[in-house]
Amino acid sequence: MDLPVDEWKSYVLQKWSLLPKSIQVTISTSETLNDLFLHSSALLQPEDEMFLKRLSGGYVVGKDPDASLLYREKGNKKFQAKDYMGAAVLYSKGVSHSGPNSTDISLCYANRSAALFHLGQYETCLKDIVRAQMHGYPERLQPKLLLRKAECLVTLGRPQEASQTIIDLESSFAAKPTLSASQFQILQRTLCRVKVKVQEKKNLPEIFPEALTKTFEGMDLREENEQIPGASSSVTLHIDPLKGRFLVATKDILPGELLVKEDAFVSVLNPGEVPLRPHSLESKWEIQATSGDLHCHRCLRHTLAPVPCEGCSYAKYCSQECMQQAWDRYHSVECSLGALLLTLGVFCHVALRSTLLARFEDVGKVIKKLCGEMSNQGICLPESKTPAQILKYGQGGEGEKTDKAVETPIPGCDINGKYERNYNAIFHLLPHTENHSPEYKFLCAVSVSALCRQLEAAGLQAFTTDLKPTKLKAAETPVLGAELNVWGVAMLRHMLQLQCNAQAITTIQQTGSKESLIADTRRVRLATALFPVVSLLNHSCSPNTSVSFIGTIATIRASQLIRSGQEILHCYGPHESRMGVAERRQKLRSQYFFDCDCPPCEREKQRPSAGPGREAFRCHRCRALLQGDDVLSCSGPACTESVGRDLLVSRLQDLQQQVGAAQKHLRNGRLELAIQLLLGCQSDAESFLSAEHSVVGEIEDALAQAYAALGDWEKSATHLQKSLQVVEVHHGPSSVEMGHELFKLAQVFFNGCAIPEALNTIQKAEKVLLVHYGPWNDEIRELQKMKSCLLDLLPIPVGPKE
Ligand SMILES: [Zn+2]
Ligand SMILES: [Zn+2]
Ligand SMILES: [Zn+2]
Ligand SMILES: [Zn+2]
Repeated sequence: MDLPVDEWKSYVLQKWSLLPKSIQVTISTSETLNDLFLHSSALLQPEDEMFLKRLSGGYVVGKDPDASLLYREKGNKKFQAKDYMGAAVLYSKGVSHSGPNSTDISLCYANRSAALFHLGQYETCLKDIVRAQMHGYPERLQPKLLLRKAECLVTLGRPQEASQTIIDLESSFAAKPTLSASQFQILQRTLCRVKVKVQEKKNLPEIFPEALTKTFEGMDLREENEQIPGASSSVTLHIDPLKGRFLVATKDILPGELLVKEDAFVSVLNPGEVPLRPHSLESKWEIQATSGDLHCHRCLRHTLAPVPCEGCSYAKYCSQECMQQAWDRYHSVECSLGALLLTLGVFCHVALRSTLLARFEDVGKVIKKLCGEMSNQGICLPESKTPAQILKYGQGGEGEKTDKAVETPIPGCDINGKYERNYNAIFHLLPHTENHSPEYKFLCAVSVSALCRQLEAAGLQAFTTDLKPTKLKAAETPVLGAELNVWGVAMLRHMLQLQCNAQAITTIQQTGSKESLIADTRRVRLATALFPVVSLLNHSCSPNTSVSFIGTIATIRASQLIRSGQEILHCYGPHESRMGVAERRQKLRSQYFFDCDCPPCEREKQRPSAGPGREAFRCHRCRALLQGDDVLSCSGPACTESVGRDLLVSRLQDLQQQVGAAQKHLRNGRLELAIQLLLGCQSDAESFLSAEHSVVGEIEDALAQAYAALGDWEKSATHLQKSLQVVEVHHGPSSVEMGHELFKLAQVFFNGCAIPEALNTIQKAEKVLLVHYGPWNDEIRELQKMKSCLLDLLPIPVGPKE
């Protein structure tokens, strides 16, 4: 998803392999990104562009009124079946495919408002009603819509507005009696009901919607760092020739302290599995929802009621405001390139968007430096213009400054040594050009130059038009080639940076079946982003911080006590609890180009063959652990059992398959069957796996879910406690994984009305989750609700009466 689609990748790699050796050498030994870009770009032929065009033609990104109708009909079916969530998703797809101010779009909005009403999302329902009316909702259907509006307003505690809506409604009845007698009667009855409710509400004080009273307590840095905005004053920036830039604690930091709170400089929503245009009519339109359907393409907020871009069916936003901002900042350029960007992958998209965002900043110095490097290497730029003028970033009289004058001791900082979260910081993230393989560099360069050609064809004007007209001298004829090359080189730099610097924005997604009463959650990747401050943190396989996201904002909290002088570390992915030292080091080497020497790596390197004991096999006779490499022998004192590793590994694979099958039954609601299979897996696992093996934990967790779905809370709790033990061994007692598992256990105790156990578990879960997420977290709020509910249930000690 980050990289271009496989077809384009293999096409470019084949092209590379067919190049004469001499050209391959020229490209792989290019000393600058500029050379790399120009050499590769020169090799991009019209037939290559045609091939790419055919590939991207497979993505549906335009609007199609037929699709709009089909989605609305499918949505109506779900609505009738009372699957309001499913209906809302399909109406949203219908909205995306209809043009503005059409009956199609107004009907989709109106139907979606009905689904939202049933889901209890009254505020959003009201917005959709307004949208339906704005796009020309048919006059004859108005009464139904106005009634829904009145009901929403009543429920939200806004009786005045509700009364006004009813007056409008009645006058529209009087003016145009367009309804049949029976319809009119039904409507009249509902109207009476709503009127009564309005009366009742008028006697009550106004209620504020819960959303407005939510606070952001605990979400702000206690004291912001003067040198690094977005970081806490408890850290400072260091630089070292070997390690590069990194953050160090300036005082003792307690677990849970917020260290970084930073909005992404740039982020691109991962589209999910966007299906290629299918060939059969039956399956023409995808009805599954991807994350691209449920999250705002700008702020990543989850929404059931997105507003689509008016120009494409692909980009969707949580609100008109987000749509407008996205349009002004980047989507006006990206809109017509949707299919190409899906083909070239998210990295290419992030690279393009970064340069588009750069237009909003005074990045003259940075780009000038880039151009300076280019002209030093004899790249022909028109002599009459300084590079700055070419980019239209000229800064009046300051044009003569040399590169040295903007050099600062720490890359990415300004002259005063301040590390700002701006394009300058992004630009200085390391591209590691020398470490990437020649094939990868060629792929990136060719992809970027294909994108540049499309930009040129789509009208470069939109792309390079300066957004600060006050700084723009009289418009000159743009020098397309040179100008585009500068942008191309900048984009190539970003693409190469991304492999090491891209930060995945993740979210917790509910995965269990709809009926399941306990949350089964999974961390999923939502977007790919660049965070200048987060990028300053080095990796450890056992980090001392925990990162989480709210929309596009990343927060990093200390997950343990950090002593003054210690480095602030986070994990790039290969965590010691998830994989062995060899695998971790291999992953870090190939993606991030360094050999990890964090304490767990050093420790495990000393005795690599021992491996982590928790994933061990055990003897079927005496239950002692088995040890050894190819042939394992029993470590029991009086046992002579030995067995080949191959045999054990294949047994484990069989077991994992069985567990997978059982989980599938569980998801599809075949609970009895799932339990039967899982109990078989459990006894099989016991015969050859250690009690702390992760597969044992998976089996227990699935059993707990199955019993919870059956309402057998006691059994569910027993299995969940076993799974909890495995999680604790693997991730540690205060890990975020432990927090999620404790949360589940709290739900099970809560549902089973085991009050003391529930309160005890809630307290533990809250303590762990608070460290990782701070108080602004859905699970913590849920725990607090459970707690207050339980405390209400407890017998209240009788006090003295007044
Ligand atoms: Zn938004
Ligand atoms: Zn668009
Ligand atoms: Zn390590
Ligand atoms: Zn034995």
